[in-house]
Amino acid sequence: MDADEVVALTSALVAVDTRNPPGNERAIAGVCRDALAPYRAAITEVEPAPGRLSLIAAVPHPGGEAPRPTLIVNGHLDVVPVDAAGWEHDPFRPVLERGRLFGRGTADMKGGIAAAIAALGTLKRAGREPACNVVFHLVADEERGGALGTQVLSERGLVTGDACLVPEPTSLRVCVAERGLLVADVTVHGRPGHGSSPRDGVSAIEHAAAVVLAIHAADFGDTPHPLLGHPTANVGEIEGGSGHNTVAERCRLVIDRRLLPGATRDSAVARLRTQIDAAGVPSLRYDLDVKVFGEASELVADHPFVLQVRRAVAAVTGEEPPVIGMSFTTDARFVRNQSGIPAVVCGPGDIEQAHVNDEWVAVDRLVDATAAYAELFASFGVGG
Ligand SMILES: [Zn+2]
Repeated sequence: MDADEVVALTSALVAVDTRNPPGNERAIAGVCRDALAPYRAAITEVEPAPGRLSLIAAVPHPGGEAPRPTLIVNGHLDVVPVDAAGWEHDPFRPVLERGRLFGRGTADMKGGIAAAIAALGTLKRAGREPACNVVFHLVADEERGGALGTQVLSERGLVTGDACLVPEPTSLRVCVAERGLLVADVTVHGRPGHGSSPRDGVSAIEHAAAVVLAIHAADFGDTPHPLLGHPTANVGEIEGGSGHNTVAERCRLVIDRRLLPGATRDSAVARLRTQIDAAGVPSLRYDLDVKVFGEASELVADHPFVLQVRRAVAAVTGEEPPVIGMSFTTDARFVRNQSGIPAVVCGPGDIEQAHVNDEWVAVDRLVDATAAYAELFASFGVGG
């Protein structure tokens, strides 16, 4: 198969700066529309905030009337910011070097979107057709939690279909489960006193230190998940005190909890409080403020759609791709949990290349992904 089309489309998408923050997916709408025009896609725009655009592009099955299954392809158009000083390449002027295409979003995940669109061209040139309706959800705001993108689509009842492919970077492995995330600020309160007699006050720093030891890398006692392992807690930031000569009145911790399927916002907060209380600090006073919450999600590994995606990848690479879990969240969680649609994450990028300087995607992988998606479109729903 020819690499030119998928490389050109990835490059065109990467050349539009869609950094989030601030986020401006409106800027890339034209490139998406042009790419989908040959397939007669019916396009709906959803723009819940100025410039924060998601496109729903329904590519009709050419066979016409008979009802067909619908396969959603969900890909985010936004990318994470760049620290240009750390790049050797221009992040928004993609270049091809020794089989690697460099640029922000090549791996995460404009390359995956390009491969899924290019797959339609692959089928067309081969005189083949998708067996299903293919509906692209090219969405805003995934990198900041998805509230202005897939979450909006889901809340408005626009996420409907029989299955969903999310071409986020997995090196074409098949991801069916993601851990959830709780970010909490814990502010520990003390009572100030003179630094020359530390026992006259109550040190928020001393108490916070005990809390850190009780939480960081703690075993929360859960049964490990076969694909996601254990839930974790990382104390990622600490800040407190007002000077060497004062017993600290306040100390703030920022805690990153990664959660297993089943944990809700309330249960995750309750577990964290239990663990903090287990630090055994008498008269501990603290406030807990949830900054971010996204629940875990999973699809059973032997779901028929998982098997179909694996078969499509294997038909191209000659190897059965492994089924994996990921330690972070993607928009697949809205599709799985809020819209109740089976979703699989499988894309050409390498997760090691996501969010790094001089991000790249391997052209061979883009080509394989394009061919694998073509196989999936041609077989989805056929034979159950
Ligand atoms: Zn991504």
